[in-house]
Amino acid sequence: PLLPAIFMGPQGLFGGAGILSPAASLVVDVSCVVVLARLRRPSNEQIWLCVGMVAACFDVWLTYHGTARFSVGWYVAKLGSLFTTSIVLVSLFVELTALYRRTADLNFILEHQAHIDGLTGLGNRRRFDQVLETECARAGRGGHPVSLLLIDVDFFKRYNDRHGHLAGDDCLRLVARAIESAVRRPADLPARYGGEELAVILPMTGQEGARLMAERIREGIANLDVAHVDSACGHITASIGAATTMATRGDQGHAWIAAADRALYQAKAQGRNMTCEA
Ligand code: GH3
Ligand code: MG
Ligand code: MG
Repeated sequence: PLLPAIFMGPQGLFGGAGILSPAASLVVDVSCVVVLARLRRPSNEQIWLCVGMVAACFDVWLTYHGTARFSVGWYVAKLGSLFTTSIVLVSLFVELTALYRRTADLNFILEHQAHIDGLTGLGNRRRFDQVLETECARAGRGGHPVSLLLIDVDFFKRYNDRHGHLAGDDCLRLVARAIESAVRRPADLPARYGGEELAVILPMTGQEGARLMAERIREGIANLDVAHVDSACGHITASIGAATTMATRGDQGHAWIAAADRALYQAKAQGRNMTCEA
């Protein structure tokens, strides 16, 4: 009788059809159980959310029917509510942490896949383009040279035709490993430019250094000693075009690639298995 009118009476929260009436809380209880039963694979926090709601509804119901406050039953109802809602919170927290970890792992894998060529394991074209642009700009700012090597396997179409594309892929992997082991500085980027054309970006490397690296790579590929009967050498070789720039603007990347490409075709025209410089 001490409660304000909003709680008591037939129209009040607790009275008649009020939202906290026993009938209403029973409807919520039953709905929770129905929802839970209809879920194919309920998650932990969905189960505990339902348990928590059922417990809270029973709490209201018992409190309503109880004739005494601060009795054992009253305390048990409160503790039950507190316990279940705490578990809901904890299970939400655990689920969120697991989700966060899964997302971070997937992100890592995606990031890796976005920059690595699936066949050779070298940087892919996207990575090549990014590094080319930043190194061009860095060279322009710092006033130091940067070199590019374009590497094309000689008579590779014939190799594929004779041994099949799977053997061709294996050969490309070997060539990639040879390039990787020739490249020693962490800033150097070996990448797959496209098809059987590979490339290496050599930051802070002048003409002399580029020539040295190109020869080391060319020899490394020749020393793989992969038999290629349709090539004059009898084994797999590659031709390399090298170009060095002192770029002052980021947009000079295209001219730089074109220069390395011309040098590569010069190496092809002069008999292959050699390095030409732009
Ligand atoms: P050269 O460069 O000495 O002039 O002769 P080539 O026969 O190598 O000529 P080109 O560079 O035009 O040939 C490209 C060939 O490389 C075509 C295709 O058979 C092969 N190729 C390109 N990409 C792949 C690949 O991912 N896997 C395999 N197995 N072969 C590839
Ligand atoms: Mg080729
Ligand atoms: Mg080619």
